[in-house]
Amino acid sequence: MSETKRVYKFGNKAAEGKADMKNLLGGKGANLAEMNRIGVPVPPGFTITTEVCTEYNLLGKDKVIKLIKSDVEDGIANIEKIMNSKFGDSKNPCLVSVRSGARASMPGMMDTILNLGLNEEVVAGLARKTGNERFVWDSYRRFIQMYGDVVMGLKPESKEDIDPFEEIIDHLKEQKKVVNDTDLKVDDLKELVIRFRKAVKEKTGKDFPDDPWEQLWGAILAVFDSWNNDRAKFYRKLNNIPEEWGTAVNVQAMVFGNMGNTSGTGVAFTRDAATGENLFNGEYLINAQGEDVVAGIRTPQQITKEGSKRWAVLASVSEEDRKNKYPSLEENMPEIYKELDEIQQKLEDHYKDMQDIEFTMQEGKLWLLQTRNGKRTGAAMVKTSMDLLTEGKIDEKTAILRNEPNKLDELLHRVFDKGAIKKARVLAKGLPASPGAATGQIVFFADDAEEWAAKGKKVVLVRIETSPEDLRGMNVAQGILTARGGMTSHAAVVARGMGKCCVSGAGAIRIDYKTRLMNVDGKSVKEGDWISLNGTTGEVYDGQIATVDPDLSGDFGKLMELADKHTRMYVRTNADTPKDARIARNFGAKGIGLCRTEHMFFEGDRIISMREMILADDETGRRKALKELLPIQREDFEGIFEAMHDLPVTVRLLDPPLHEFVPHEDENQQEMAVEMGITKEQIKAKVEDLHEFNPMLGHRGCRLGNTYPEISEMQARAIIEAALNLKKKGIRAIPEIMVPLTGSLKEFQIQEEIIRQTAEKVFEERKDKIDYLVGTMIEVPRAALVADKIAEKAEFFSFGTNDLTQMTFGYSRDDSGKFLPVYIDKGILKYDPFQILDQEGVGQLVDMGTKRGRTTRPKLKVGICGEHGGEPSSVEFCHRVGMDYVSCSPYRVPIARLAAAQAAIKDQK
Ligand code: ADP
Ligand code: MG
Ligand code: MG
Repeated sequence: MSETKRVYKFGNKAAEGKADMKNLLGGKGANLAEMNRIGVPVPPGFTITTEVCTEYNLLGKDKVIKLIKSDVEDGIANIEKIMNSKFGDSKNPCLVSVRSGARASMPGMMDTILNLGLNEEVVAGLARKTGNERFVWDSYRRFIQMYGDVVMGLKPESKEDIDPFEEIIDHLKEQKKVVNDTDLKVDDLKELVIRFRKAVKEKTGKDFPDDPWEQLWGAILAVFDSWNNDRAKFYRKLNNIPEEWGTAVNVQAMVFGNMGNTSGTGVAFTRDAATGENLFNGEYLINAQGEDVVAGIRTPQQITKEGSKRWAVLASVSEEDRKNKYPSLEENMPEIYKELDEIQQKLEDHYKDMQDIEFTMQEGKLWLLQTRNGKRTGAAMVKTSMDLLTEGKIDEKTAILRNEPNKLDELLHRVFDKGAIKKARVLAKGLPASPGAATGQIVFFADDAEEWAAKGKKVVLVRIETSPEDLRGMNVAQGILTARGGMTSHAAVVARGMGKCCVSGAGAIRIDYKTRLMNVDGKSVKEGDWISLNGTTGEVYDGQIATVDPDLSGDFGKLMELADKHTRMYVRTNADTPKDARIARNFGAKGIGLCRTEHMFFEGDRIISMREMILADDETGRRKALKELLPIQREDFEGIFEAMHDLPVTVRLLDPPLHEFVPHEDENQQEMAVEMGITKEQIKAKVEDLHEFNPMLGHRGCRLGNTYPEISEMQARAIIEAALNLKKKGIRAIPEIMVPLTGSLKEFQIQEEIIRQTAEKVFEERKDKIDYLVGTMIEVPRAALVADKIAEKAEFFSFGTNDLTQMTFGYSRDDSGKFLPVYIDKGILKYDPFQILDQEGVGQLVDMGTKRGRTTRPKLKVGICGEHGGEPSSVEFCHRVGMDYVSCSPYRVPIARLAAAQAAIKDQK
């Protein structure tokens, strides 16, 4: 026989497992073991490991039962010994629960069965033993209900149907003319059992099993199966929990909260999970079992008196009623409360983190059934970690690691006023594409958005979907709502970059641009009406809802300070405007890692000069147009350099394919024809000429600068002149000029020479100088391969991992929407490589490029400026390859700062 241990026992303050065995025992099992070890009262039981779940999926039912049969029997024997009762015995029966529990907590996603081991004989025996017939029959009907659902599959047939068991209960309640479950008499419960069993037989064709052992095996396998139910799958996808992990199964002696008025059940948190306030809180119900508290059938009562009073205010319950009808556990059962309070403190001190606990009281005795690190909001996460640090319970590094970088996002955007949101009406729901709260008047067109905003109105831009032409309208809108498109749609990506609230793909919305109406479920809303968006939940509300600024001082500020203290890498931002630069600076950016220059050519009249340049026949024509662009560019750079004074700004020379700038519409072609004094047909011909089959691999990047050197020359001049102009005003600019899309040394070298010669010329003209660097993007795979050569001339590298990913995979990013979702569904890819850096493949090029570059130039400054620069796992990777900095969009700067610090701390361990 193999030596693998598959079953771990616990009970009577001893356990074979412990807290750090979560991978094997699941979170629930590991903590049940640990609670035993530290002397917390826990009903005895055993845990079947997650590995058995994997074996089950691989080998099937029969082989797995064989593998664990004797261990399970031994586990039951151990429970029997401690409980002094017998599983399946009719005189002195022992009942068990069979509970799921994966490595990562997946609350409510998988199945649990309570009161297992009951049949007619056992019921009779238990009734004699306890003298409490009502309790016994209540337990039995609950058991049949849960088992019938989970193991035998008697579920509602469609989502409109109600649960078949609930239907039977409702029917009986109607017949008996009672309202509450608790009003049903013992005979009614007996009747329910009969009807339940009949329904099971009729609908599944199978008899409800009476043999406790058959029940037990059925339940164990059903829990394994529940790992693969739809809800669990969806939850795993949402939370990036791997499919391979599997769930453990916990079999545990039942304790009963439904034995009368000295029994009950509850859940509690050692601190407030919404705000982080250090206040023990929770809810309980008398004479109830398991999930009754969360199920919402009865109004649960508060655990502490303080909590109870706060609840009464919110629920508009008078103090009189509160005390009499809904007293707190503290008032109701002071002794049990005291014990519970001590245990919660003990658990928090032991785990050194906020705990979420489940407990049951059986005839005045307290039992703990679960503890886990409580799920919490971003605000509670930050506050709890900083409080535990102040309380001396954890050290700085632990405090930093306690915060999930992505959750900081919740704290960075404007939020709805808590009171106002409660009263609001939900119109529709879409995807939570970009967090935050927005409220404004509906406009359907980007130019209207601009016009209205200019008049000081707050607008929400509502579109079927957005395109690059809507950018400026999006920029002035409070938020963006689209009817089509997913989490990576144009609207979603751009909004996240802007740190702007966005709800995308709200499918229930019908938009009619002609009549300027939006229809939702028959209700129509028109241009100018107020709506509100919650980008964190995807909810769309009717009307105006008050918002408040997030508070970024206090605990948040303290966390950021700590992160800076422990980090090695620093964080820059990707910003093209002074406004973005300032936002990022406020969030702690230490410079700009990517300033794209192309948008500067779109605004206002500039596009005309730009188009003139592109459509010109020869260098002379181009130079003429570039001359008009020079002062405009210079001014743009002055603005950005000033906003980032004393910090480096990496400016990337023109990158996109030229044809993106040319006029495609008739009207614009006509305009250009007049401008350039040629015919529209000639313009048309030129536009066709510029057409490319594969623009992303075409005439773009430094290929532009190498075919039209005068473009690079103009841009270099604008940059240097801007810096000199500021120097005169006493403002220090630190430009780093970056050549895009380099693939070979020569390609870069020619650009570098143009830049340096231009700079020298300007220095000469102005009789003044500034320091600057010339470096390159590494985004073509070849550049990573010959990085040692490129580093002979380049003073810095910035990994453009968007293009690098695109070219390494050979996936066109703009077309990937057609196949990426399918690839992820089929498991061909684990995640979208444009969001999370592919460390295995693309990562090799990043690592190699960095190393090779530094063999030539040991102090080579290396950073990243792709979308990945703000994604925590990618940031960690950048730390490991030895980068100096990461650069990301302004609103991700704090996230990257925290991720960088965590990477440094993990590295030391
Ligand atoms: P979930 O993972 O969905 O929280 P649990 O396994 O924790 O499911 O069980 C659901 C409910 O049943 C919880 O309220 C739990 O406290 C209760 N419960 C589970 N096992 C027992 C037991 N042995 N005795 C009493 N109550 C139990
Ligand atoms: Mg639970
Ligand atoms: Mg690129």
